[in-house]
Amino acid sequence: MRRSVSICAAASIYLSLATVRGVAAEPNAVPQTSALEIRVVFDNTSARPDLRRSWGFSAVVDFRGRRILCDAGSDPVLLLEHLDLIQIDPKSIEHAVISHQHGDHLRGVYWVFEKNPNMSVHFLDCFPEEPFRRAAAVNMKPHRVTGPFEVVPGIYSTSIIDGCPPEQSLAIETSQGLVMLVGCSHPGVVKLVETAQMQRTKVRFVCCSETFT
Ligand SMILES: [Zn+2]
Ligand SMILES: [Zn+2]
Repeated sequence: MRRSVSICAAASIYLSLATVRGVAAEPNAVPQTSALEIRVVFDNTSARPDLRRSWGFSAVVDFRGRRILCDAGSDPVLLLEHLDLIQIDPKSIEHAVISHQHGDHLRGVYWVFEKNPNMSVHFLDCFPEEPFRRAAAVNMKPHRVTGPFEVVPGIYSTSIIDGCPPEQSLAIETSQGLVMLVGCSHPGVVKLVETAQMQRTKVRFVCCSETFT
């Protein structure tokens, strides 16, 4: 695994969003504007001293008044602590999309779900049985992703992209073009981008947690 310039992109979004948060009227409300906001809430690096770094990735995406969680980090307690610090109520999250089966992207989702049992959770159909067993233990019935789908208007899952392990990525249709949010990129970031472009349109920006090539 190697980190590339793309992780800097995630960090810069984080910083700018930390600034935006300071002027929000209602911290827990999902912004109704058409602007895309991606807040990294769990990462191997931290841009704020009050947010601890830990292995894995999680980001909250706000788009056109809808809120989704992309991945859920490796440490559930820390993830919930960070959501609280950033003033994101788990109950305001409509969907959780888990990019792939690794624990550093998956582990926190059960805890967020326990805070918000109305949240829809999207696992790849090809995940091993263990994540589904853990889901059943908290009465979560994950959607088993088998094909591309629209998570909320304007945000799409690419569905299963072959790799070791396979992944799904998010493609967000903004007025500036397609923005992608990807997990570890085990299938290779080029393959992820090519798939999204084949399914939708030209990719303008990729926000990566880690990058395999
Ligand atoms: Zn990872
Ligand atoms: Zn991984």
